[in-house]
Amino acid sequence: DKHHFFRDTWAEINLDDISKNVQSFKKHLPDDKIMAVVKANGYGHDAYQTAVTALESGAEYLAVAILDEAIALRKRGISAPILVMNRIRPEYVNLAAENELSITVFHKEWIHEAISYMKETNLTLNLHIKLDTGMGRVGIKDEEELLDMASLIDKSSNLHFEGIFTHFATADEWDSALFDEQTKRFKNQVETLKKRGFAPPLIHCANSAASLRKVKGPFNLVRLGISMYGLAPSMEIKKALPFPLAEAFSLHTRLIHVKKLMPGDTVSYGATYTAKEEEWVGTLPIGYADGWQRRLSPGASVLIDGERMPIIGRICMDQCMVRLSNRKEVGELVTLIGRQEDERIEMDEVAALANTINYEIPCLISSRVPRVFV
Ligand code: PLP
Repeated sequence: DKHHFFRDTWAEINLDDISKNVQSFKKHLPDDKIMAVVKANGYGHDAYQTAVTALESGAEYLAVAILDEAIALRKRGISAPILVMNRIRPEYVNLAAENELSITVFHKEWIHEAISYMKETNLTLNLHIKLDTGMGRVGIKDEEELLDMASLIDKSSNLHFEGIFTHFATADEWDSALFDEQTKRFKNQVETLKKRGFAPPLIHCANSAASLRKVKGPFNLVRLGISMYGLAPSMEIKKALPFPLAEAFSLHTRLIHVKKLMPGDTVSYGATYTAKEEEWVGTLPIGYADGWQRRLSPGASVLIDGERMPIIGRICMDQCMVRLSNRKEVGELVTLIGRQEDERIEMDEVAALANTINYEIPCLISSRVPRVFV
């Protein structure tokens, strides 16, 4: 039995779609290596399955945010290179090296500490220096510090200078002076390093948006997150995609109760919905504890038999209600995100209703919702 769960709510992850998206990027950027970003459990799509699929489809590297995510992938048997993009504590450098991970640095003192933790070992740790060219999050800005760090790494027999990178703040906006400025600053810093004889093998700056836009420069790897999952990085970019993206995530449940309301009957907490006439209402076993956010009602709809029906009343922790166009049977398939016949509810529609970006929606679908792979 491939089902490892007993509830009537699940997310379906179409791994073929992820594979297609990676292959499309490979064609779009034939000279760049692909780093599949699988942090936050693969943006809610399952980090392990996404990683395996991406690696089979042309990605050569993986990226995660935190050390725990990288170690979890190693424990599942993933042997591809993995970059941890957030800071790790210097006391964990040997753990990182034993797991053959690549670690991000943006602080000279961190390197001194790493060297002292590693000096009694014959381990080697791969390092990527992170530059802050305008994101204002993590990364070094100072050229002197960059050169000092590069020489410290170079001199240590335990450290390997594997990469240099930065991250864009506005790659998803077409007319951004900051995007051009960040690209320029990054190119200059890479050039400065080269002049001093430092040539880390991996040079990378592009996220999905910059990859779709084919940012030009001395770069040889792209970090692909959101668009590997088939989602556009912004509505602006979505209007001008160079190739179609296949949305891999869909969300489904089944009717667990169907009943007739009489005029004046109310639905859910606060009695915010009142039936105006005789109408059919269905109960769904999904709520805000599953990441189906309370703010989605009123506004969101679902698909049943290929037809849209509105969620009514407040979304509860584990359940919510929909107004049915006619009587339906318990057990009928309900799609909250995805396609039924000719109707479709896109991730972007749900994101707009929740007043957020598409990234946040699958990330917030909680671990209580089983992921099924097709
Ligand atoms: N690189 C870094 C440093 C990131 O933080 C992220 C995600 O936020 C990515 C790459 C991937 O970005 P995207 O999902 O927009 O492709």
